[in-house]
Amino acid sequence: MNLDHPGIKALLAGSNDHALFQEAFETRAQHFENQVHLRGIIELSNVCARDCAYCGIRRSNRSLQRYRLPPAEVISLAVLAHHLKKGLNTIVLQSGEDDFYKAEDIADIVRGIKDRVSVDVTLSLGEHDPEVYRMWREAGADRYLMKIETFNRENYQKMRPGCDFEKRLELLGRLQGLGYETGSGIIIGLPGEGIDDLADSLLRLSELKLDMLGCGPFIPHPGTPLSDELGGDYQTTLRYTALLRILNPLANIPATTALVTVRPEGRVEGLKAGANVIMPSLTPARNRRLYEIYPGKNIDCDCVLDNLDGIIAEIEAAGFRISEGTGKSKVVHQGSIEK
Ligand code: SAH
Repeated sequence: MNLDHPGIKALLAGSNDHALFQEAFETRAQHFENQVHLRGIIELSNVCARDCAYCGIRRSNRSLQRYRLPPAEVISLAVLAHHLKKGLNTIVLQSGEDDFYKAEDIADIVRGIKDRVSVDVTLSLGEHDPEVYRMWREAGADRYLMKIETFNRENYQKMRPGCDFEKRLELLGRLQGLGYETGSGIIIGLPGEGIDDLADSLLRLSELKLDMLGCGPFIPHPGTPLSDELGGDYQTTLRYTALLRILNPLANIPATTALVTVRPEGRVEGLKAGANVIMPSLTPARNRRLYEIYPGKNIDCDCVLDNLDGIIAEIEAAGFRISEGTGKSKVVHQGSIEK
């Protein structure tokens, strides 16, 4: 399979889906057999200081009711999730960039979880000072997820006003240096981008030697300036997932919630295309609906237990098995400092 820039472009356009998906599936099977890691995500807060053009919880969306979960509730949700014994062995804490939680508060939450249950903790809290990342790492956080969203610099400025592409990239390097398992990824089909951008981003992402890689289709949100734009393509997202797997055989790659939102079969099709991670939401129903980074997110059910049992049954019916481990990164890092 030709995986230079023109080769990737052709594959993304659908030139050889059969071979692409087969190779991705085999690569996945070689390194992960039929295992799927569950990561339970708690969406702490939908308050955000940023104004990302694509995102429904952007600061300027005044029509959204905002919430914040108290730290004690976050800790008890994580403990409860682990006690279900359903394979939720990693807890992901995600939110808007909300300075209501001081760095120490997040460190206390991480410690509060790690002291009570044996889970890995992933943070996805956006951009912070490297010293804050260090504090959270010392508190016991294992992983950090921060998508670069796009490698098209010009579009980056439009999509993430007031943010700096170079800085985000540098922060990803800092996170790696601090010994976090580090993840990033992009949004597929942002307005103004085409297949050239996707091929660029695949090559750039794969150079970063990340532990986790993810991609989801752009879903236009009515409360944003991009409300009338076209959404990202489902099939292109599956192809991108397959290429991520082939180019990064050992990385943990989710079938993203955005993919499943566009089409419910995305969960299993994502796994078949090379993904090995699923991230069910553990956020209480009353808040979950308000964590609306795109429409349709988190509206599938009221009860995480029902949700989870259904998800697990679906994954198993497709021939996969829920992993009993925490799914640590298999990516080998050379010369990373402070690990
Ligand atoms: N504030 C954190 C968490 C972001 S929300 C951070 O900046 O890292 C998680 C992810 O949802 C984003 O990284 C982005 O890739 C995705 N997302 C946001 N809005 C979206 C939309 N309209 N369509 C598809 N994905 C979106």
